Amino acid sequence: MLQVADILGESVVDGKGLRTVVFLQGCPHGCTGCHNPKLWPSKGGKDYTSGALAAAIIAKMSPIHRGVTFSGGDPLAQAEELLQVIKSLRKIKPELNVWVYTGYIFEEIKDYPVLQEINVLVDGPFILAKRDISLPFRGSGNQRIIDLPKTFAQGGLIQELSL
Ligand code: SF4
Repeated sequence: MLQVADILGESVVDGKGLRTVVFLQGCPHGCTGCHNPKLWPSKGGKDYTSGALAAAIIAKMSPIHRGVTFSGGDPLAQAEELLQVIKSLRKIKPELNVWVYTGYIFEEIKDYPVLQEINVLVDGPFILAKRDISLPFRGSGNQRIIDLPKTFAQGGLIQELSL
């Protein structure tokens, strides 16, 4: 069961293209200046099974949607459940583009199985001293936009170069 704070049908600021955004409840990082501290507690929002959440996401997507983004909170606080959701989504849309935001840095969580199913990981905590509103798709300069399939294929961290 997943704890879901909200599902936004349309966004163009949470990854490339038009995307559905799922805000998952719970975050252990406690960043100063966090944009969404009400999502820190692990309990809250609405409970979904992985299949029900996949169906709710698909219902919000149109033919021009580029993909889905999981934000929060920290989606990797529910990493096992998130893996099941993405697998359910890919049964319906095999080519679905998936972005995930996390407050962990890649090197801490690189062995999580769910990372094998994610296209792009935006990693690292929000650091107020490094806040930069000119950066696309992230809040502070320490955060990286990582192409996970290329990173795992090439054995070294590959960031999205076209941003
Ligand atoms: S990782 Fe994100 S949601 Fe969690 S405390 Fe930091 S800014 Fe807030």
